[in-house]
Amino acid sequence: MSSSPLKEPLARAIKGEVTDDAVTCLKLSRDASLFTRIPQLVAYPKDTADVQALVVEVARARAAGAEVSLTARAAGTCMSGGSLTTSIVVGFTKYMNHVGPVGADCAYTEPGVYYRDFEKETLKKNLILPSYPASRELAAMGGIVSNNSAGERTLRYGQTERYVDELEVVLADGSLATFKSLSPEEVEEKKKLKNLEGQIYREVDTLLTENAKLIEAHRPKVSKNAAGYALWSIRDHRTGATNLAKLITGSQGTLALWTKAKLKLVTPKEHRAMLVIFLNDLALLPEIVRRVLPFEPESFESYDKHTFELAVQFLPQILSQMGFAKAARLGVDFLPEAAMVAANGVPELVLMVEFAEDTLNEADLKADALRSVLDDLHLETKIEKDEKESEKYWIVRRESFSLLRKNLKNRYPAPFIDDFVVPPQCYPTFLPKLYKLLDTYKEHMVYTIAGHVGNGNFHLIPLMDLTNPKSREVILALAPKVYDLVIAEGGTTTGEHNDGIIRTPYLTQLFGAEMVALFAQVKDLFDPQNIFNPGKKVGGTFEDIKRDMITENVH
Ligand SMILES: Cc1cc2nc3c(=O)[nH]c(=O)nc-3n(C[C@H](O)[C@H](O)[C@H](O)COP(=O)(O)OP(=O)(O)OC[C@H]3O[C@@H](n4cnc5c(N)ncnc54)[C@H](O)[C@@H]3O)c2cc1C
Repeated sequence: MSSSPLKEPLARAIKGEVTDDAVTCLKLSRDASLFTRIPQLVAYPKDTADVQALVVEVARARAAGAEVSLTARAAGTCMSGGSLTTSIVVGFTKYMNHVGPVGADCAYTEPGVYYRDFEKETLKKNLILPSYPASRELAAMGGIVSNNSAGERTLRYGQTERYVDELEVVLADGSLATFKSLSPEEVEEKKKLKNLEGQIYREVDTLLTENAKLIEAHRPKVSKNAAGYALWSIRDHRTGATNLAKLITGSQGTLALWTKAKLKLVTPKEHRAMLVIFLNDLALLPEIVRRVLPFEPESFESYDKHTFELAVQFLPQILSQMGFAKAARLGVDFLPEAAMVAANGVPELVLMVEFAEDTLNEADLKADALRSVLDDLHLETKIEKDEKESEKYWIVRRESFSLLRKNLKNRYPAPFIDDFVVPPQCYPTFLPKLYKLLDTYKEHMVYTIAGHVGNGNFHLIPLMDLTNPKSREVILALAPKVYDLVIAEGGTTTGEHNDGIIRTPYLTQLFGAEMVALFAQVKDLFDPQNIFNPGKKVGGTFEDIKRDMITENVH
């Protein structure tokens, strides 16, 4: 591979490093998505000034006609291909990985901090970011904010956007801005600035005012969304405040690169109890959800029969990762379920309803009360009265996708309809249609469904042989059909994994041409030269999906 002419100028411009080392580029050609793109260069900035210098150099090269761009990368676990590029990767975890200070209810962080390290610091003050994803051991703050991630506690706490107070960002001309909540008077002051920041405030204000009805009509009706640009979140109609950090959150590095975040945190509830429901008759699911939600559980999660079977199959492997004492305890803990499976077979769905309260008694009472309310449905249930007892269910739920990724030969977990959200009230009409549709493709795939059943957010991950061109065709044939069903119920194509390469081309199907034109206007305003992660959110095509999809079952 010939060296990029930008390597030397970029290396001179920053204190950090720039490399085109083939092994590094190959490593960064993948994330947890279905795609591969080999970058030309990887830059590791040491600080915000380095990020500014990278942007200035790339903008200059772009103006001179070079086809170059910058794609931010934190931990590279994106499932939609957000962190992949054939141009320049900006890697944040190497140097820009500092947390702090942590305040009484908030923390500052750089994007390269792994969530596990962030939480270590915040827990010192008994605080957490409650929107952490299931990939909490792998992911970093850059992706958590930029994908608008969410996870098992989102039912009670909402997704990341709710916790993003301020973002320091590098704009497309290399200038620095801090986006935070501003009063109407403060916005007027910003609009007077004679730089890109001022222009952004002026034009966003006009765009939001002129298109207020259109934007409001497309505000997601489900409890979580990561599709499109969150134009509906910029203005707080209650307070009149404007916060552009809400727009940058979830924008996958397509509008600006953020270098510091101020995140709100919460004090986690101390005590937990879980009602586990082993469900064989899926027709009962909507009624169960209807009865569970008023109890306001912290989490309401599920995993299906295939996941359960996989967990049992790989139990020794899961346990071996956990050290002897924990493995021995968990192994013993799994035995009652083994007996139940031997007697009644594997349940179609395992539902986990977890209550988190200030006292153990409160949590237990809620779990007991819910069990009574479900009594007449004659369900197989179990109450786990503390976190140690419920841990095994969480392990299966959290590990399901990793298990698939690591263990299946000749089949690859293909995340393409992996994250849709529907209103839980529609389960009786939606789920039968979904299963019928999936059945018509069953010769090409088996699938597991795990997810946030309380939010209506399903992680449906088919296992496919990607060496077979027919499987790859199925991906493009099936996705729009699933989305038709989802959209008909007022749902969204992605709750937390975002658009990336895999879903950007479906934004018109979801939002319609007028909204997509607004998204393009926003992109053009922030990034007129298209230097930030091109082809994600705006401009991505079905051709991109076909061209860059992996063709090997390599895990
Ligand atoms: C096993 C497994 C389970 C998962 N479970 C969940 C889940 O429960 N919920 C969930 O939401 N996701 C989940 N994911 C997907 C993924 O882990 C999350 O979306 C995570 O937040 C991505 O973080 P990351 O650091 O790996 O981001 P990356 O992949 O590095 O980047 C993600 C996006 O953010 C952009 N970005 C990164 N840093 C910046 C920056 N500084 N400025 C601007 N843009 C930036 C990138 O360009 C890219 O578009 C899962 C993935 C795996 C492999």
